[in-house]
Parts: sequence; C-alpha cells; structure tokens
Amino acid sequence: MSQLWEYAPAPESRDIANLKPAYKMFVDGEFVEGSGEPLKTINPGTEEVLAEVSTASPSDVDTAVKVARRAYDRVWGKMPGTERAKYIYRIARLIQERSRELAVLESLDNGKPIKESRDVDVPTAAAHFFYHAGWADKLSYAGYGPDPRPLGVAGQVIPWNFPLLMAAWKIAPALATGNTVVLKPAETTPLTALVLAEIIQQADLPPGVVNILPGAGDTGAALVGHADVDKVAFTGSTEVGKLIQSQLAGTGKKLTLELGGKAANIVFDDAPVDQAVEGIVNGIFFNQGHVCCAGSRLLLQESIAEEFLEKLRIRVSTLRVGDPLDKNTDVGAINSREQLTKIQELAAAGEAEGAERWTSACPLPDKGFYFAPTVFSGVSQAMRIAREEIFGPVLSVLTFRTPDEAVAKANNTPYGLSAGIWTDKGSRILWAAQKMRAGVVWANTFNRFDPTAPFGGYQESGFGREGGRAGLEAYLDV
Ligand code: NAP
Ligand code: MG
Repeated sequence: MSQLWEYAPAPESRDIANLKPAYKMFVDGEFVEGSGEPLKTINPGTEEVLAEVSTASPSDVDTAVKVARRAYDRVWGKMPGTERAKYIYRIARLIQERSRELAVLESLDNGKPIKESRDVDVPTAAAHFFYHAGWADKLSYAGYGPDPRPLGVAGQVIPWNFPLLMAAWKIAPALATGNTVVLKPAETTPLTALVLAEIIQQADLPPGVVNILPGAGDTGAALVGHADVDKVAFTGSTEVGKLIQSQLAGTGKKLTLELGGKAANIVFDDAPVDQAVEGIVNGIFFNQGHVCCAGSRLLLQESIAEEFLEKLRIRVSTLRVGDPLDKNTDVGAINSREQLTKIQELAAAGEAEGAERWTSACPLPDKGFYFAPTVFSGVSQAMRIAREEIFGPVLSVLTFRTPDEAVAKANNTPYGLSAGIWTDKGSRILWAAQKMRAGVVWANTFNRFDPTAPFGGYQESGFGREGGRAGLEAYLDV
C-alpha cells in the first residue's frame, strides 16, 4: 500500500529566506516606520513569531497616496511605454534571481508547501511581470483605442492565500498601463510583498511609483476610501467586497472585485478516471484549498460515483500533510487559527446536516494549524458545505444523472468564478462550458494559471478581469 511508504524528511533550509527580525513599510522608494500599531506575523506551520512588521495608519495611507500621485504626474504617467517596459522586465528578472529566497519566505509566512511556492507562486509571479512588460509599449494595439490613457493612482488590497502572486497580479498590469500603486498586503502574510518592495528598489523604479503598506482591514478601508485614489482593485472575501462596492458607489472610481467561489468540478461517466482523480485532488487540495477558484464541489455522474469515490479516497490518503518547508509535503498548514476554526466549524456542520464524512488518517504535526484532507459524500445542494466557501482542504461530493442536471447543479450557487469539466467528448466540453456561469472553465485539467488568460468572476465572485488583454482594461481610462 502506497500510504505505508516512508519518506525521509527533506526540509528546505529556512536560512534561504533571509528572515529579518523587523520589516518596515515601503513609501516613496524608502523603507520607513509606519505610525500604526506594529503587527507580528507568525509561521502557521509552527505558531512561532517570524517578524515584527510596521503598519500604516490613515495618515500614512494619505502620505502614500500623495507620493503615488506625484510620481504619476511627474514621472510614470508620462514615461513612454518602451521605458516603463524596461523596469517591469527588470522586476521580473530579479524575482527569478531571488526565487529561492521568495519561495522559502512565502512558505514560512503563509504555510503553503515549498513545492508549491517554488514551482507555482514564484514562477507565476515572475511570468506576470514578464508578460506585462511586453504590453507596456503595445497598448495602442490592445483594442482600447490608438492611445489609451492610464487612470492615475491605483489602491490595491490583496488576501493571504497567494501573497506574492496576488501582489504581482495587481502591480504588473498597473505599471504596464502607466498607473502608480499603493498596495496593502494581508495582515497574516506581509513578508513577500515587502521583499518585492526590495526588488522594486533594486530595479530602480522611480520613487513613489509603487508603495506597499502593511496593515489590517482598517488600513485597507482607509486606502480604498481615499478620495485621491482613481482605481480600486480588491481580492478577498465577498463580504468585504460588498462593503467596498457600497463605499465606492457614486465616487466615480473604477473598481474590480475578485471574490470567493464555490466551483463545481463535473466528472462525466466517460472521463478517464485516474486522470480525473488527479485533477480533482489538485483542484481542492492544492494550497490547502485556500483557493478562490478551488474545485470544492465535485459532481459525479451516478453510474461511476462509487468507483470514483473509492479511487479518490485511496489517492487522498496518500497526501502527506505537514511541515511546509519539507519538499515532500503535499498539504501544508492552514494560514491562521481563525481560518482553521472556520474550516472545523463548516466540517462539523456537514456532519450535523447528514453528509458522510471521510477524513484521511494521515498524521498531523503537534504544533501549528493543520486540517486533514476530508471528503464529504452524500451531500445535498441545501447543505452549508455545498453552498458556502470553506476555503480549506474539504471536498463536497454530489451526484447527477444527466448532463442537464449536472449543469443545473453546477450553476446553483451565488458564486461563479470557475468550473471544471471531465469527459472524453469534445462536443460535451463545448456544450457544458457554454452553459456554465463561471469566469474560467477548465476542461480535463484544473487550477491552471497563466498571465495571458483573463481571470475573474460572475455574480458574487465579483467583476472585472485580471490577466490577458482583457485585464488591461481595468487600468485604462476606457
Ligand atoms: P478579507 O477579510 O476579505 O481580506 C482580504 C483583504 O482585505 C485583506 O488584506 C484584508 O486585511 C483586507 N480588508 C479587510 N477588511 C477590509 C475593509 N473593510 N476594507 C478594505 N480592505 C479590507 O478576506 P480574509 O479574511 O483574508 O478571508 C476571509 C474569507 O475570504 C476566506 O475564508 C475566503 O472565503 C475568502 N477569500 C477569498 C479569496 C480570493 O482569492 N477570492 C482570498 C482570500 C480569502 P486583513 O488581512 O487585515 O484582514
Ligand atoms: Mg504569517
């Protein structure tokens, strides 16, 4: 049995992270002390404090927005695209050069397995800068008129699940289109954004073009509500997204919201089973399920459900949960105690509402925030675990008989960020993809990210697109 296979520990050295005892905010090209209450960021894999980080008060936010405005007016807004491209390209190259440091630091601060930060987060962050460096001097060919203009100052707020990657998703298109930036990383994961600030300094980006302000939700609220911000880009919960939307209504600020999801991953009876099992596992257990587009609802065609579930449980029981820095780890730590409590509460609700719970018997470390991979079968559409975003390593399995029923169930959600279709039939992929109310539909794969592909939602998953040609629009005055 594969789960009895013993792996020797293979930890990456934490020295590579160059962890410092204290980090400051980045304003006008310098690292400066914020006047907010400093925060302590922890390693969720061990619960130890990693560093103290200074935070921005509302007056610091005001200063940063002023600095960004000046940099926009005097330098960045009028710099030719060919020149902007060189800076963006340099940032991409420096991310590659410092990729090991960034990967280890990301795993320490966030809890995600090193193989994911190393092979997905950091390379994809670099790819976003490379891709957008290419757009900077070609905006007149993007389909937004002969000379599309930037908006001005962008206020950006990002979550903790992909700290560096979300910073790249936000900053790269803003710079390519000629905007300046004030960005707030999540309270629990500020460190890689501040190393990105070092990289931006190394790249000689003119001071004030990018400013990074750590802080909690109130810092984010001060930023998005600031009168002199022209564009707001937010990724996070639907709850906060709705707050921001009402806060901004009538202000004329351009807004994009990338919020939660409850994606359906549909497996038809003709799908290659082993391949689909791999895709379903990747769809929900990648990044501990802390993924807005996670395939958290598995819809199985009834005729294959039993066989499929059996294979799925065998595969999930081989996932290794533990030390995020171990290169063999598949599932790392839950990002915070708060998030762990939320996952535990929703899993308990699944049991109470009558779903059948199966949890991997994998050993869990004594310290740190961990949750064993869990699969609920016999789930009905009314249950909380079928409706609410769990944002953890928990899969809810439902069944269907006909393709129409699959589509109806997949679309029975207030969200609409992503969906997956597993079938051998090309015509069925096209048919189902057209009927799916989701911004991204993957066919016979899942959780594939590429800077050239637009990403974004329908309904309560938000609006606006990030990435690709479509993503430029959010930062242009069109
Ligand atoms: P969140 O509260 O929406 O946080 C996202 C970002 O917004 C963080 O930087 C947060 O600061 C900041 N923020 C909080 N309140 C704000 C406000 N009133 N105005 C402006 N910014 C504000 O999400 P979360 O607490 O990280 O996670 C809660 C749930 O959101 C998750 O369980 C999950 O369901 C969903 N989520 C979705 C995504 C996604 O990619 N779509 C990502 C993460 C979470 P703090 O860091 O200080 O809270
Ligand atoms: Mg942390």
